[in-house]
Amino acid sequence: MLKEKIHRRIETGFQEMTGIRRHLHMHPELSHQESETPEFIAAYLEKLGIEVRRGVGGRGVVGTIRGGKPGKTIAFRADFDALPIQDAKDVPYKSTVPGVMHACGHDGHTAALLVFAEAMNEMKDELSGNVILIHQFGEEAPPGGSRAMIADGCLDGVDEVYGAHVQSQLEAGFIYGRDGYLQAAEDTFTITVNGSGTHGAEPHLGADPILAASHIMVALQAIVSRHADPLKSLVVSVGKFHAGEADNVIPERAVMEGTIRVFDPELRKLARRRLKATAASVAEGLGCTADVAVEQGYDSLYNHPEQMETVRQAAGSRYTDIEPIMPVEDFAYYTQHRPGAFFFVGAKPPGTETSWPHHHEKFDFHEPAMVLAAQTFAAVFLEAQERKA
Ligand code: MN
Repeated sequence: MLKEKIHRRIETGFQEMTGIRRHLHMHPELSHQESETPEFIAAYLEKLGIEVRRGVGGRGVVGTIRGGKPGKTIAFRADFDALPIQDAKDVPYKSTVPGVMHACGHDGHTAALLVFAEAMNEMKDELSGNVILIHQFGEEAPPGGSRAMIADGCLDGVDEVYGAHVQSQLEAGFIYGRDGYLQAAEDTFTITVNGSGTHGAEPHLGADPILAASHIMVALQAIVSRHADPLKSLVVSVGKFHAGEADNVIPERAVMEGTIRVFDPELRKLARRRLKATAASVAEGLGCTADVAVEQGYDSLYNHPEQMETVRQAAGSRYTDIEPIMPVEDFAYYTQHRPGAFFFVGAKPPGTETSWPHHHEKFDFHEPAMVLAAQTFAAVFLEAQERKA
């Protein structure tokens, strides 16, 4: 069977995959500054004889493999950017760039997609439909790379789109996903409470922004507890709260910064509205004013049930359903434009009690997870061709 043949080919590509991953791991590039990585990817695909488009949406690379028989066009995405973290691992493939590290596994995504491409390209005459390889830059830093690549046509002619992420805290050997929202949307906010400074001994001569900001902090808790539908998830957290210099001086202003995480787009709008109204009215009641600035982060990531079912079928007994998670992922924009699904590939090193989380200075993952990621992509491609529209 074709599936077994492709799976075996990917399996024998494990050394190759590990070599690519470790090369990228040693030479990480920050989001929106990638140049050697996309060139490495484009050159790799070209050497295989795969049609390549460089500079897609800025720094992206898109490859196209045309199958010998008619069928759907299915896109697979791997991101390739690294993070501003100093690599603290003691391994031969440790990052050679000070302060920059592949601490999220995007090097592994790239290696898996390249060897997947190699296997699919070797068997293209036997394939029904086309494979689109989306190598994406800038996932870690908004505005992200996906929207720019989509605007530049990476989904043109694509029927369905899939993506995967290795997960160092989930058991290796398994695929994890869910229908509907898988990852949250994020907005960050800054509330500047303006008062009127005065001597701490004469508070009546000013307006205290620390008192007003403290009441705002408490009142913000009502967004989740009183305004949000209790059956829908929402987080409003303040992580910075700065005011004042001296113990006997009431300052001019207090500044709070925080994050909103939410899945439902309507609830996201409600949270923003309530945040602004709460801050403004509480400040006013205490003789101050509040300026609220909300910076929009990525949207929530939605998995289309039909495409998720394709992943489920493709992964078979290796598949496990999971609860959604609060971190964000700019794959979200692909499934806003095409039916698609995103799934996790367990990559916790076996036999270890604890594993380092993503974005940690000692982050690493179980490299055979790349094989499972690539094999699942291949199975998804074949399964999607089989599925009746
Ligand atoms: Mn990531």
